[in-house]
Amino acid sequence: MRRVLTAAFMILLTAAFFCGCTVLPPPPEPSRAPQAARMPPERTAVPARRSTPRLETPLPPSPTPVPRVNAPWYRERNTALFSLIQRDGCCASDAEIDAAIERMYIDPDKPMVALTFDDGPIPGVTDRILDVLEQYNARATFFVCGWRFRDNDHVKSIARRAVALGCEIGNHTWGHEDLQKLHNIVEKRRTLKDTNKAIFDATGFVARSFRPPGGHIDWDINHLARESGMAVVLWSQSGNVNETDPEKIAQNVQKQAVNGRELQDGDIILLHDTKPYMVNAVEIIVPQLLEEGYQLVTVWELLNCSEEGFVPGETYCCQTLH
Ligand SMILES: [Zn+2]
Repeated sequence: MRRVLTAAFMILLTAAFFCGCTVLPPPPEPSRAPQAARMPPERTAVPARRSTPRLETPLPPSPTPVPRVNAPWYRERNTALFSLIQRDGCCASDAEIDAAIERMYIDPDKPMVALTFDDGPIPGVTDRILDVLEQYNARATFFVCGWRFRDNDHVKSIARRAVALGCEIGNHTWGHEDLQKLHNIVEKRRTLKDTNKAIFDATGFVARSFRPPGGHIDWDINHLARESGMAVVLWSQSGNVNETDPEKIAQNVQKQAVNGRELQDGDIILLHDTKPYMVNAVEIIVPQLLEEGYQLVTVWELLNCSEEGFVPGETYCCQTLH
């Protein structure tokens, strides 16, 4: 954990980093333990797309989903997913829901990375990113700002669809506040709790990941995140540092232009679902990562598959996986 915290504080000591409309420097390369137990990414075919039209004939009885990860968190995930999919209404029957959850299996022995999108949800961008994720049966984490949910049914429906697709909704404060500039812990607590409430009211999803705008953290943040059952999630790879060209964003994910750091198993990848060009970037990034053998999982799933596990209040940049 000291390794992770050290990496986090290196971020604090580094000049600003790109997040939202703020120009920020590239992330420090986190120190990582050797990953002897992990096999290098294999070249595999792109998984079958699941965005097929609704079948005209009823689906055959679905077998009981067999968890690929034999852990309590995985069963908890599947139970929660069933309710979230039911609430979204995207599946016609319980059997269809079971089949959808089964398609979201995780193989803990294969490489995985977490795509994360900050500052949304934004209609016309976030929903189109969800289209791509659904097409490839991939998942991501969306760090949202709470104010976007206020009196906006479209945004709420996008968030409901995201969680029904197995994506994670994380907390990115109510108004994208730099928490280091808020005056006291009461204000910091309020922006976190109000955002969690907006997420839960819209989707039924309980946020478990918090990303501070700009990656700016202090001890208050870790304390407040622990208080709300959330981990503090930074990133280890960034796609769109001052970059708007989809091809170059995808190249940044593979290899950071600023420091040459290459994508690794366990990386948390920073992106933003604020501009349409990101949709085009995601159309490149997702199939590329799948072809390289990576599973695209949520941050919470990634942390649960890691050596350290998911610990509320802790700060994470990337993970050494089992
Ligand atoms: Zn942001």
